[in-house]
Amino acid sequence: MRILSVVGTRPQLIKAAALFPILRSRHDEVFVDTGQHWDDVMAGDFFAELGLPKPDHALGIGGGTSAEQVGRMLPAIATILAGERPDAVLVYGDTNSTLSGALAAVTAGVPVAHVEAGLRSFDRRMPEETNRILTDHVSRWLFAPTPMAVANLAAEGIRDGVVLTGDVMQDLAARVSGEVRDAASALPPIAERLGLRLAPGAYVFATIHRAENRSPQAVRAWATILAAAARPDRPVILALHPGTRAALEASGATLPAEVCVVAPQGYRSTLALQLHAAAVLTDSGGVQRESAWLGVPCLVLRSSTEWVEAVEASDGAMVVVGLDLGRAVVELERLAPVESSGRLAEARAAAHALQPAGAAEAIVAALEGAA
Ligand code: UDP
Repeated sequence: MRILSVVGTRPQLIKAAALFPILRSRHDEVFVDTGQHWDDVMAGDFFAELGLPKPDHALGIGGGTSAEQVGRMLPAIATILAGERPDAVLVYGDTNSTLSGALAAVTAGVPVAHVEAGLRSFDRRMPEETNRILTDHVSRWLFAPTPMAVANLAAEGIRDGVVLTGDVMQDLAARVSGEVRDAASALPPIAERLGLRLAPGAYVFATIHRAENRSPQAVRAWATILAAAARPDRPVILALHPGTRAALEASGATLPAEVCVVAPQGYRSTLALQLHAAAVLTDSGGVQRESAWLGVPCLVLRSSTEWVEAVEASDGAMVVVGLDLGRAVVELERLAPVESSGRLAEARAAAHALQPAGAAEAIVAALEGAA
């Protein structure tokens, strides 16, 4: 088959990295990068780190409102489709690039394959929720990462084309996380680059990027949570998305010195920082799952999650706390008591044995079966 893949953001580059080797070994792939994320720390560096192919079409459509992005991506992808004439368009996740790729494909009569179909937060205020629902309802193949995603699709009347594949991000995390398992070799290069002291369990790792966490009120709330989580002997390392950094600056909120704000990190560094942390605080769907796979305690700084199974399977190690300061403090103390977090982090890394989900194989097989 000739498959045109559309990516544009950091998590999509990461998901594409899990899929492209097997996809390209059996099919002809045309790789389109919308440029929704465009700077080196959010996008460019991942091409080199993950060995991604150079895009066949790089649209350079970053910045602006969601409406402007979709308004520019849609005709640009339509023009590419007219020239490339693929058998299918493959989109990932829930971003403006996902929606634009899907809409361009259906209007051109090309079937859509959606990786990470069926996820729902049931919170329509999230732009991602609209993108997921619309994309699922025009897709020919719906690659669901979890049984709950299959059930969500069934509840919306979608059964045809649904395949439970497992999670492509687990495939990649399993491939790479073994490389960062040894704290003695994984942490020093990161510590040196960031100018910080890093030891197992002696820091908390945090990421925040969602639109819902960028209002001044939300920024003040999570800044207070991070400040409460940080201690001089156990700082919080906050790898901050540029959009959230701008929101932090605009909000006037301040962070204590024990919250170390650093640039977004590369994929391996992020896995290493998670694996050896005392705990992870995040609003990221990807980081949330990775923490679960690595067995690291995780506080989800959102009021809802699409990854219900990850929470249920965590045996209490993952808690959706939203921006509730009291809950966050209590749960962090329960999951990562300061006096034992070094020992617990070392034990986790020693026990680490993440297996791939086989999702990339399942996706390619399903595409072939239905071709
Ligand atoms: N990630 C990264 N550097 C960072 C923060 C996250 O490489 O500084 C990775 C993370 O390990 C995961 C992915 O980005 O694989 C998650 O993407 P993101 O948080 O941007 O989006 P979401 O998963 O919420 O859609």
